[in-house]
Amino acid sequence: GQCITHCPVGALRERNDVDKAFDALAQKDKITVVQIAPAVRAAWGENLGIDREFATVKRLVSALRQMGFDFIFDTNFAADLTIMEEGSEFLERLGRAEDKNLPMFTSCCPGWVRFMKSQYPDMVDQLSTAKSPQQMFGAISKTYYADLLDVDPSRIFNISIMPCTAKKYEAGVSVLSDAGVGQDVDLVLTTREISRMIRAEHINLELLEEEEFDMPLGAGTGAGVIFGATGGVMEAALRSAYYLVMGENPDPDAFKEVRGREGWREASFDLAGSKLRVAVASGLGNTRKLMESIRSGESNYDFVEIMACPGGCAGGGGQPIEDGKELAEERAEVLYGLDKVNNLRFSHENPSVLKCYEDYLEKPLSHKSHKLLHTTQRDW
Ligand code: SF4
Repeated sequence: GQCITHCPVGALRERNDVDKAFDALAQKDKITVVQIAPAVRAAWGENLGIDREFATVKRLVSALRQMGFDFIFDTNFAADLTIMEEGSEFLERLGRAEDKNLPMFTSCCPGWVRFMKSQYPDMVDQLSTAKSPQQMFGAISKTYYADLLDVDPSRIFNISIMPCTAKKYEAGVSVLSDAGVGQDVDLVLTTREISRMIRAEHINLELLEEEEFDMPLGAGTGAGVIFGATGGVMEAALRSAYYLVMGENPDPDAFKEVRGREGWREASFDLAGSKLRVAVASGLGNTRKLMESIRSGESNYDFVEIMACPGGCAGGGGQPIEDGKELAEERAEVLYGLDKVNNLRFSHENPSVLKCYEDYLEKPLSHKSHKLLHTTQRDW
């Protein structure tokens, strides 16, 4: 949980948004739409006194339903959508004759994006323009999903459950460009806050049954779930980039070299006869070293994933804290385990994502996709 110290909202005066969530639940005209981030499922039960094996995401879904939230969805859906957009953007840049703006940097971690903007403002154009999964989810919920429900988007109240305090800031600065219904995400609760709400509601945890996510935005792949661990975004992107270039799937574990513990890792892969050089860093100390090395010309990469918290979101600043214990790795193992047993391990095979393109967005990087799912990084 080292990210706390970098968090723009600050752990020392950590915002408590639990009351706002209860308020939203009390407003009967509001439709509360919840998304659960990948890393939350590996940690939500930790300070509720239930085992990791018992505290599955399906039991969290059940707890949230008992609390009265209307629709419970999975940020993994939007993580897969992010891969479609960001992977396509990367291939588009790679294929340019000039102004490739490489390496391309991931843009899903607001702690990192802010760090980049303040410390390396001259390199901001190298950030992917893709919004984070949290923000993409919010935008889709208030457009595509509002259409499916046939309701006015202003009735939708998006709540996300995140391992992260910086996501509160991200939600506040990122405004839905298109539908004119305020922020993509209305309220962000951390894993700690949702645990507190569950406790306040006196939900009998031992009696919780496993329940499924709502559909269609509850569908996620193994590639989506590993977003919660350092290296996961890169691995998910490479799986789909390979497919987009080669027209067939790689072995889902073909890129597992990017997993690991070191704060700065690199790997290279062959893609259609050319060499792709990638790097993954987590923690802002490692990030600074990596950035300086890129600047000096010592390191050369095509694609770089950066997460501000050591170990990625699994070790995020909004996760439960146990004194003196670093749980990021243990939680990451849960996520890789979930990837392994998922029938779908490629973002481009997420049926709900495919349907959303077919019925609404058309294709990655389409006009509509740009409007809803991308941002000019200079705007915030
Ligand atoms: Fe938030 Fe994850 Fe970034 Fe930490 S690594 S600041 S938890 S998005």
